[in-house]
Amino acid sequence: MELTAGMRAVRDQFRRFMTEELEPRTAELEAGESPYPLMRRMVEQLGLGDRADGLGGGGGSRDATDKESDPELAELMAYAQTQLSVEMCRVNPGYALSFGASLGLFGGNVRNKGTPEQVARYVPPVLRAEKIGCWCLTEPGAGSDALRSMKSTARLDGDSYVLNGEKTFITNAPHADYFLIYAKDDAGTVQAFIAERSADGLTTSKPFAKMGMRSSPTGAVYMDDLRVPRENLLGGGVRDRDHVRKSLASERMGLSVMGYGIAERCFEIAVDYAKTHHRGGKPIGEYQLIQQRLARMYVALSNARRIVYGRGETSVLDACAGKLYVGEVGTAVALDAIHILGGNGYMEEYVVERLARDAKLVEIGGGTTEIQILTIARHILE
Ligand SMILES: Cc1cc2nc3c(=O)[nH]c(=O)nc-3n(C[C@H](O)[C@H](O)[C@H](O)COP(=O)(O)OP(=O)(O)OC[C@H]3O[C@@H](n4cnc5c(N)ncnc54)[C@H](O)[C@@H]3O)c2cc1C
Repeated sequence: MELTAGMRAVRDQFRRFMTEELEPRTAELEAGESPYPLMRRMVEQLGLGDRADGLGGGGGSRDATDKESDPELAELMAYAQTQLSVEMCRVNPGYALSFGASLGLFGGNVRNKGTPEQVARYVPPVLRAEKIGCWCLTEPGAGSDALRSMKSTARLDGDSYVLNGEKTFITNAPHADYFLIYAKDDAGTVQAFIAERSADGLTTSKPFAKMGMRSSPTGAVYMDDLRVPRENLLGGGVRDRDHVRKSLASERMGLSVMGYGIAERCFEIAVDYAKTHHRGGKPIGEYQLIQQRLARMYVALSNARRIVYGRGETSVLDACAGKLYVGEVGTAVALDAIHILGGNGYMEEYVVERLARDAKLVEIGGGTTEIQILTIARHILE
């Protein structure tokens, strides 16, 4: 893709922040330091303002009026949304995951679906990263079949809903201020409710120990007669059967951007190593077997790039196809990079082992590979 001068300036500004601020803190973040103060600083320093909510969701909230009145600006904004996530993921995908869950999944969903009062109360502090949000769908007994098997309930009692149930694997849950919780109402319909940390009946677990994405706190949410004011029913209960599916499509687009950012960085590290690491008296990049691996990595990366940068509004079908493909590319390219670096690739110092561990999440979160395949097949055959 040919970058305009404006796009290059945006990319360079983002990259500088990640190199100067995120990279040096990554060891601490991986060891459990809170990522939220840095997010606040990032939003402020990069002037992300109220546009940031599309970032976690892969650009799902582009403004239609911009497109008509100033297509160039709209293109730049869309690029900036994607590129911020790419730049975060090149350095620290776990940090990007937490950022996306708060601003994209919580902030974006409340902004798109909330009542004017809900938007005014919850969206601005989340977009400034002063408050942290989380998005609570998965349960211990309901993952890939989250909607069908959901056990969490919301019973209307006077002026409030009373929620009971348990959510798990929730990004940001251990520290979040705001919770967007999916539960079945008295009619058995899945609805979303906004709860605040201070509410009686809401508790969270400690952060879970994980394979990767360690800069992102993940945990459980427990609802034990959690009382939520009636006005906190997202959108005031206006029926939108597709709400969860649209949220998932947006999450999947965001996750494909993550897979791409990981693959891009790993590819660059591998190329650099192939040029500078000598064996048998010459750089390993001069061996054809290494060249073949690099060439295949490049092909995958270049296909992934077209998917990630080439789309405008994305259908559910294309969001699934993109996440399926780019998710697999992220893991494959990261593992190939480890291989090209040999023993060094296996060492923490060379970064690619962390990025490979992080990459695997893209194939699981927001619906596993199998679920993308099943959804794609259903859409093309209906
Ligand atoms: C780090 C991390 C962060 C997360 N963040 C969030 C979050 O913020 N909010 C949230 O709500 N959730 C979150 N999740 C949960 C994530 O979305 C789920 O883990 C994912 O949807 C898979 O569900 P599951 O873990 O229950 O796996 P399962 O559904 O138990 O799947 C297990 C295996 O069975 C396969 N399988 C299941 N059903 C079928 C089928 N019908 N056909 C074929 N194969 C099938 C799956 O593909 C998988 O290989 C997060 C998960 C992780 C690991």
